Amino acid sequence: MIQFEDVQKVYSDGTQALNHFSLKINDGELMTLIGPSGCGKTTAMKMINRLKEPSSGKIYINDAPVEDYHIHELRWNIGYVLQEIALFPHMTIEENIAVVPEMKKWRQSSIRQRTAELLDMAGLDPSVYKQRKPSELSGGEQQRAGVIRALAADPDIILMDEPFSALDPISREQLQQDIRQIQQEIQKTIVFVTHDMDEALALGDRVCLMKEGQVVQVDTPQQLVLNP
Ligand code: ADP
Ligand code: ADP
Repeated sequence: MIQFEDVQKVYSDGTQALNHFSLKINDGELMTLIGPSGCGKTTAMKMINRLKEPSSGKIYINDAPVEDYHIHELRWNIGYVLQEIALFPHMTIEENIAVVPEMKKWRQSSIRQRTAELLDMAGLDPSVYKQRKPSELSGGEQQRAGVIRALAADPDIILMDEPFSALDPISREQLQQDIRQIQQEIQKTIVFVTHDMDEALALGDRVCLMKEGQVVQVDTPQQLVLNP
């Protein structure tokens, strides 16, 4: 479980990014954070793996404050997928996927097996794609590779920050379906940031609607549509 308790974030230039922000995200839940640009979605998400620190308030993972975890423990157990494609350009797809498993000192045979499994799951034929460099993949394929890289070392939590916003509508819809399917298979906690309401409603088990650093409403997509 991930919990934000009365979190405030004021940046050094005085910008208040989060204001009395409280939210509970259950294990195995896909929570979408939705709201206009600048409402604090990314700031909130980055506090989960301590890329940002709150000015006041607390963030808990499994009832322990995030600052009680070793920073490596957080980074290794929380997969992170960004809008900007963040695959390492000089590495093959296989090498990209292996980065965190290698840091965790997995056996080479396990890493190879895991890589093939994940490529299959993402619809990327391992015999073709594992030797390719990111530049030899389409935008949608690169995003898919980015998603499976985040899953590689079996993290408990996956953070996704507008991972599909640069894609055409068809690739985007395909990837949304993939994410839903992956989430149903692996039952991980996923926090997904988007400013696209259709995407938030299509993906979320629940949707957290934000405005000016505050939570406006947290509900299932069905309830949100019925009681906007
Ligand atoms: P969102 O992800 O919803 O677009 P952000 O969390 O990125 O929102 O930003 C929330 C607010 O904080 C915005 O007004 C943004 O300009 C501001 N902000 C974000 N990062 C910084 C920073 N490092 N320094 C100052 N202001 C920032
Ligand atoms: P913090 O360490 O406070 O969480 P960062 O390290 O992300 O913030 O940002 C450091 C500085 O970068 C900020 O004080 C700000 O001047 C600048 N900055 C970064 N992103 C933004 C943004 N979106 N809007 C305004 N300023 C920003």
